[in-house]
Amino acid sequence: MHAGFFPLPDRPRFALRNLTAPGSLLPKHAVTGDLCRIDLLVENGRIAALEPSGTLPDALGPDLNGSMVLPGLIDVHTHLDKGHIWPRRPNPSGDKTGAARATADDRAARWTPEDVRRRMDFGLASAYAHGVVAIRTHLDSLAPQAAISFPVFREARDRWAGRIDLQASSIATLDLFLRDEGRELADIVAESGGQLGCVTAFADIANVPLPPEFDRALTTLFALARERDLDVDLHVDETGDKEVLTLIAIAQIALRVKFRGKILCGHCCSLALQTDERIARTLDACFEAGISIVSLPTVNMFLQSRQPGITPRWRGVPPVQEMKARGLRVAIAGDNARDPFYAYGDHDMLDTFTQAVKILQLDYPVGDWIDAVTANPAAIMGLTDRGTLRAGGPADLIVLRARNYSELLARHQEDRVVLRAGRAIDTTLPDYRELDDLMAELPAAARH
Ligand SMILES: [Zn+2]
Repeated sequence: MHAGFFPLPDRPRFALRNLTAPGSLLPKHAVTGDLCRIDLLVENGRIAALEPSGTLPDALGPDLNGSMVLPGLIDVHTHLDKGHIWPRRPNPSGDKTGAARATADDRAARWTPEDVRRRMDFGLASAYAHGVVAIRTHLDSLAPQAAISFPVFREARDRWAGRIDLQASSIATLDLFLRDEGRELADIVAESGGQLGCVTAFADIANVPLPPEFDRALTTLFALARERDLDVDLHVDETGDKEVLTLIAIAQIALRVKFRGKILCGHCCSLALQTDERIARTLDACFEAGISIVSLPTVNMFLQSRQPGITPRWRGVPPVQEMKARGLRVAIAGDNARDPFYAYGDHDMLDTFTQAVKILQLDYPVGDWIDAVTANPAAIMGLTDRGTLRAGGPADLIVLRARNYSELLARHQEDRVVLRAGRAIDTTLPDYRELDDLMAELPAAARH
C-alpha cells in the first residue's frame, strides 16, 4: 500500500506530471536548463515518454507541483562484507590504522559465510529502501576470506537480482600480486564476474620512495586482468601523507602496458595536498590512461586528519572539481557502513550526495553533479539501463517532495517515494535488532 505524499495511480499506464528533473539526466528534447519541468509517462513498469511539462493530459495522473524525480541511485564503492560490525568491533583510535587492525581481527574471528551473508543482506535491504538500484562492493580477499566471501556474494547477487544489480571487486594489499595468490584471486574474481582490485600499498614495504616491487605488482595485476578480460578497481592514496602519490604511477603503468579495460581509482586523498603543477600533471596522466575516479567524502572526513584532542585541519578529500574539469569521469560513493572504517553510514546515496555537495562544495552551481551518483557510476559499472531518465528505461525512480536543490539539500528527504517498475515499494528500513545475535561476544572456546 502506497502511503506517499501524492496519489499514485494504481494502473499499468499512468503519468506523473509537472516533475522537476536534472537536465543532465534527460533526453535532449526535454532539457531546458540544469533543472527542467517534465511530464513522465509510465507503462508496464517502464518509462514510456518524457516530455516538457504541460504535454500530457491531466487525466493520466497527478500534478506533482514541481517535485524532483531522480533515477534509482548507484553506489559504485561499498564494503558490504565489513558492514555493521561496529557494535562488536569498534575502531579504538578512529583512524585508518585502527580500522585496518580491528577489521582484520574481526575477519579472522567471525567472518563465516552466515555472518557475511546476514550483514550483507542487512546493508542491501537498507540500500533498497533508500532507492539504490546498483552497488559495487569490495570484498576483503586475503586468503582464506576470498574463498568464503565471493561465493556468499554470488548467492546474494542471485537473491537480489531485479532489485539491486550487484558487482564485486577484490581488495587486498598489493603484495598479493607478488605471489601466486594474485593469480588464484584473479581466477576467483573472474569466476564471479567481478573486478580485480587491491589497495595500491604493500603490507610491509614502504611506498615512499616508490619501490621496484610497485611496478612489478601492478604490472602483474594488469596482466592478470587483461588475460581474464576484467576491469580494475583500486584503493589509491587514502592518506594525508603528501609524500604518498601512487596515482600518477598507476596511470603511467596502465599507459605503458596499454591496458584496455576500465580503471576506477578510489579515494586519491593525498593528491589534494600536492602543488597545482603536480595535480595537473597527475590528472593529465589519468586522463590519458582513461582512469575514472570515485570519491568517498564521508569516510575520508571520518578517518583523515584524526588525532586525539586535535580538530581536523583539512577535509581529507580529493580535488574532484579539478578532476571533473580535466575531463575525468567522477563518481561519489558511500564506502563503509557502521564498521571500523566508518562508524556511521546507511547505504543512502541521496544522503551521501547531500553530504558530498557540502563537504566538496559542489555548489555554485550544483549543475550536473548529480551525475556523480547516477550516470557516471552507471557508465563505470557498464549498466546501460541505469543512471538516466529515458523513454524505454525502467520506471525505477525516486520522487522527492523537494522541488529544487535548496529544498533537497536542506532536508533529509525521509518521505521520499521509491518506485520500482512503476510501483511504490515499502521504504521501511531494517531494524538493527535483527543483527543483535551476531554482535554477541563469542564464547571463550570459540575465540581462537
Ligand atoms: Zn573502500
